[in-house]
This record gives sequence, structure tokens and C-alpha cells, in this order.
Amino acid sequence: MSVAKHLKSIFIMPDVIRDSSAPPQNDNELTHDRFLPDLFESAISNTLHQKVGRGLRLTFTNNRKSLISIKRQAGLVDVRLSRIFLLADENTVYDLVRFIKGATLRVPRSVMEFAEKSTLPPHVAQKALSRANPVGKVYNLRKIAKSINARYFDGALNINITWGNKPRRKKRRYGNRVIQLGLYDRDLDLVRVHPVLDSETVPVEYLGLVVYHELLHKKLGSKRGVNGERRHHGSEFRLLEKEYEQYRWAMAWEKRNLNKLLNRRHKLV
Ligand SMILES: [Zn+2]
Repeated sequence: MSVAKHLKSIFIMPDVIRDSSAPPQNDNELTHDRFLPDLFESAISNTLHQKVGRGLRLTFTNNRKSLISIKRQAGLVDVRLSRIFLLADENTVYDLVRFIKGATLRVPRSVMEFAEKSTLPPHVAQKALSRANPVGKVYNLRKIAKSINARYFDGALNINITWGNKPRRKKRRYGNRVIQLGLYDRDLDLVRVHPVLDSETVPVEYLGLVVYHELLHKKLGSKRGVNGERRHHGSEFRLLEKEYEQYRWAMAWEKRNLNKLLNRRHKLV
């Protein structure tokens, strides 16, 4: 949910506000992760280093929107590559190499096609999920999600939720007036909530709406409009969103407090 989208009678989630009995954050971390190198990563990394040469500096990401980014300077090629490509076939890797070497300026069709039909390999998704951190300084997202799940979804959703990472640097690209307060990552099946909301000044009813909004995305998926365009907030979505009991109240709170949220974001850095 990015601003400005979104609460009625207050329903209280008493044990949510402060959570001193928080479980260890990585209670479900796969212990072998720390010892076993990722064989898929080593394989593609070896191939790329061999074919591209010494100047290559390779970083893997779980990013789906930016599948590959390349920076060239002083004989070095910095490549950030999505783990989507860990299971790429030989042709795709061949074309990736050509692209990294600058032999072709456009992202090759094979690479685009591979990315389009691929998801993150399950072991990567599992690792990312094991790092989920739902227990904040003020709010425990797992408890909030559980409460929303019970109230609006008959407890039917299997929810992965985490506080997002603190922004690494100020993003000026999109100006300072936009903030993504919630996000449903379909590849990981993970709801992320912006850390700026982990604050005593943010009412739990508002945070509840952010979570509810993202869970609606999880439940409804993205529909295609008449022209085949993806529609995330179609009429069905908007109707269901208003089912949230404090919808109007929370939207009004957001309107009054958006500037504060935007400003506080920079203090997180
Ligand atoms: Zn949304």
C-alpha cells in the first residue's frame, strides 16, 4: 500500500502494543544456511567470472523488478543480478554474458523470456523468509496479522510478514513525497511493512489497515483489466478494503499524519 489509499469502530488488539515476550527473531532460520555455500550461486558465479573476466564484481539480489544492473568504471564491471537467474539454462547464461560484456546493448530476449516465466528458486525464497523480522520495537506484526486474519479472512491465510529494512540511503529519485508503507511480495509470499510505522505515535488501527490492505493483495492476486493491463486496486479490491472496520478513521489519520511519516523516514537512515 502506498499512500494515499486507506479505517470504523475500534477493535483492540491488547497484547499487540508492546511485546516484551518476543520470541527470538530467527527462530525458524535454517541452520545449514550458515555452513553450506549456495551451490547454484557458485555455479553461475564461476561461469560469469570465467567468461567475463577479472573485472567482474558480482552481487546477487532477490530483486524481481531490477533483474540485472550493470555499472562500468575503470575497467571494472559491477553486476547486481537477481537470483531468478540461479536456475537459468545455458542459452540464457550465454546471453547474460554477452550482455554483461557489452556485446549487446539491449537485454537479450532469452533473458527477458526466462525472467518472465521464472520465480525465485524455492531455496532462495525460503532463506529470505527465514530472515523475516516481524517483531519490532513497538509492534509485533505477526500478532497484528493473526488478528486481521482471524477477523477478516476466517483465519484462512498463511501469512509471512516482516518489518522492512531501514532505508540504506535517502532516495531522491521519486521525490520526497512518496512512501511505500506496505508491500506484498508475491514471489516470496511475504508482506513487508515500512519501519517508519513501528512507532508509538502510529495507532494500531492504522497499522492494521496497512496489513489488511496487503493481505487483500495476497488473497485477490492481480487481475487483468480489459486491455490486459494489471489492475491491483480494482473495484472488488476497493470494496473489500472498505470492509476494514476503522477504514474511514484510519484514512483520515493518514491524511493528517502523512507529512510526519515522510519526515520521520529520513531519521531512520
Ligand atoms: Zn495496494
